[in-house]
Amino acid sequence: MLSFWEKESFISYDIIIIGGGITGLSAAISVKDINPKLTVAIFEAGIFPSGASTKNAGFACFGSLSELNSDEKILGTDKMLSLVENRWKGLELLRKRLGDKQIEFQKFGGYELVFNTNFQDEEIQIMNKKLKPIFGQEVYFNAPNLIKKFQFNQEIVKNLIFTPLEGQLHTGSMMQELIKKVTRLGIVLFTNSKVETITSNGVIVNNIEFKSAQTIVCTNAFTKNILPDVDIIPGRGQVCITKPIKQLKLKGTFHFDEGYYYFRNVGNRILIGGGRNLDFKKEQTTKIELNNKIQHDLVSKLKTIMPSKDEYEIDHSWAGIMGFGKDKFPIVKRIDNRTVIALKLGGIGIALGSTVGHTAAEITFN
Ligand SMILES: Cc1cc2nc3c(=O)[nH]c(=O)nc-3n(C[C@H](O)[C@H](O)[C@H](O)COP(=O)(O)OP(=O)(O)OC[C@H]3O[C@@H](n4cnc5c(N)ncnc54)[C@H](O)[C@@H]3O)c2cc1C
Repeated sequence: MLSFWEKESFISYDIIIIGGGITGLSAAISVKDINPKLTVAIFEAGIFPSGASTKNAGFACFGSLSELNSDEKILGTDKMLSLVENRWKGLELLRKRLGDKQIEFQKFGGYELVFNTNFQDEEIQIMNKKLKPIFGQEVYFNAPNLIKKFQFNQEIVKNLIFTPLEGQLHTGSMMQELIKKVTRLGIVLFTNSKVETITSNGVIVNNIEFKSAQTIVCTNAFTKNILPDVDIIPGRGQVCITKPIKQLKLKGTFHFDEGYYYFRNVGNRILIGGGRNLDFKKEQTTKIELNNKIQHDLVSKLKTIMPSKDEYEIDHSWAGIMGFGKDKFPIVKRIDNRTVIALKLGGIGIALGSTVGHTAAEITFN
């Protein structure tokens, strides 16, 4: 039973946001940017944000060359370029809002590993020309000289495609900074508060109806629990991190197989993730648990690409759930006169979260 005071002070908001990941927190900040007077509450199911946003690999990336070539084949040039532009603008907004130092953003550059001996340099020139209007500079470069420096297996790695524009960040710091910003703006963040139902007045949490004029749903892969008709497919991502490695030469973010595999240095450790394509069907799940087949594959790939005198010792492994669909475009739209949805950020959500959240906030005012 609620008291008069609780009803006065805790129950009603102008805007309720469901989900406290990058998208939900960014949407809340944008609502306040647009109208600081509005009251905003975020409901997050986990004790802290517990979706993909706190589980990811911390790549501040916009797509590797092979990934963009594949996207172009499926979507056409204009749509591929629009994907890249949205990611780039999202990264700029994230860095501007939070500050590079705060999120431990480091521009070590990104690399794609090429295993194919038939790779043509021309591919780089063609893509660079298409990307020029977005970046105003050359994006990809050949860097075969670095294969040895990074101690890659030269029998397998035939070339490296380098981009100086890619960076890496500390995922935990990024999320902490978003939460700090939200708190500074007077936004209420309820954690351990799973929305059970969306009602015609607001949302039900722990059998209490919280009221709002508008609701923004940012629950990504978990959305079907509250909106069963939304077209979203969960995709689990697996990651593991090694113990510190003495004299590690590796520095930067690395991708291969059209972005299905990725690894980076975290200080003097290596983080490696991906492999969803090994077991596509089984990985279409919202269960946050490890798939041993993929975990073994990740370690074996690391040993093959970077054979080391010493064994790689895995310190920790984890999984997170991404939201996918028929194409790579996020869904940001109004679904009725009081509900906006912002979801389906796929595997490049660090880049997309800020702008997707911002678009959701703008739609809420229309
Ligand atoms: C292993 C892994 C590695 C990745 N690596 C990268 C990377 O390096 N670079 C990159 O750009 N992207 C990466 N991604 C993708 C990126 O993390 C996501 O696209 C992004 O975090 C999605 O953010 P979101 O806020 O939309 O969703 P989420 O972070 O999933 O947030 C949704 C939130 O909603 C909450 N929620 C769900 N249901 C309810 C409910 N009923 N009530 C209240 N709250 C609810 C959840 O607890 C969750 O916190 C990776 C993802 C994974 C899993």
